[in-house]
Amino acid sequence: MTEKIIIIGSGPAGWTAAIYAARANLNPIVYEGEPSNIMVPGGQLMYTTEVENYPGFPSGIQGTEMMDLFKQQSLRFDTQVLTEDIVSVDFSAHPFQLKTSENNKVEALSVIIATGARANWLNLPNEQRLAHSGGGVSACAVCDGALPAYRDKVLVVVGGGDSAIEEGLYLTKFASRVILIHRRDKLRASPIMQERAKSNPKIEFKWNSLVIDVLGDKIISGVRLQNTVSKEESDLDCGGLFIAIGHTPNTSFLNDQVELDEKGFIGTRRSWRTATSVDGVFAAGDVMDPYYKQAVTAAGTGCMAALEAERWLTHKGLV
Ligand code: NAP
Repeated sequence: MTEKIIIIGSGPAGWTAAIYAARANLNPIVYEGEPSNIMVPGGQLMYTTEVENYPGFPSGIQGTEMMDLFKQQSLRFDTQVLTEDIVSVDFSAHPFQLKTSENNKVEALSVIIATGARANWLNLPNEQRLAHSGGGVSACAVCDGALPAYRDKVLVVVGGGDSAIEEGLYLTKFASRVILIHRRDKLRASPIMQERAKSNPKIEFKWNSLVIDVLGDKIISGVRLQNTVSKEESDLDCGGLFIAIGHTPNTSFLNDQVELDEKGFIGTRRSWRTATSVDGVFAAGDVMDPYYKQAVTAAGTGCMAALEAERWLTHKGLV
């Protein structure tokens, strides 16, 4: 049997695409992914505690609960959900062929890729422990920075790119001080962002420094640093750690069959569209968005991808 539409991924983009596709009678199948040690169905929001910036939830909502509600809404319209990964695709002929982690083969007229991106972490054991327990370590200042736990605290941001600067500037609204820790003595960020950070009295820089451990039992109390030049170690007290060292889009299973940009994100043929380099394959959410990376923008592009897929299927006379 050939499916009309397969949606790969189960974050805000995937579920929103499913809601739209299901309501358009496309009988979508969502491959929500298998839980693993690096990702679980639901994506990055499953690692977030409280989401306060998604419209419609005036009191905020836990990331896990929000993803469950998204899923329930798509099930209401008879979306089929399979807890498998798509491990390989063949887009060289139409209908497309996809293979799952359970070694099942599936054939589809159209595909929406919504596999998201992973925030890069330093991969320190205590960093991961405190990030998962909501103990003051985060990879998203815009998601978590406004939480009461971070108010009037010294907050540390790791990274030297535009994200680190942007997150640092954002955190100055709440923090008593923001310390930007960078592994070199020169920022990668654009000059205008550098200027903004350097002229903000709440921001300090610590150059040539690596965070080599995160201190604290249930809640972070500080970070251990190593100077990259002298190799000396020192401890720095802080009330929050924000990692901003880039994202890695989840595209390896595509095996270069869809055009990616220079950073590995799926490129779309036109701005404000979700059609990829392969006719009938669309992309939504963080896997195609290196810039906004928000739940609400991912949901928006999920909607766009489903509408575009439906129009493409209709235009081709396939549904
Ligand atoms: P990025 O430009 O790749 O910068 C990543 C930063 O993290 C670099 O400074 C890098 O250090 C550092 N880093 C990487 N791995 C590290 C590690 N293991 N330990 C310590 N430091 C590490 O990523 P980004 O800042 O997320 O930006 C991504 C894209 O989005 C960029 O094109 C950026 O311009 C854009 N963006 C723009 C804006 C804006 O204009 N407002 C805001 C956000 C993002 P090195 O410098 O030593 O490599």
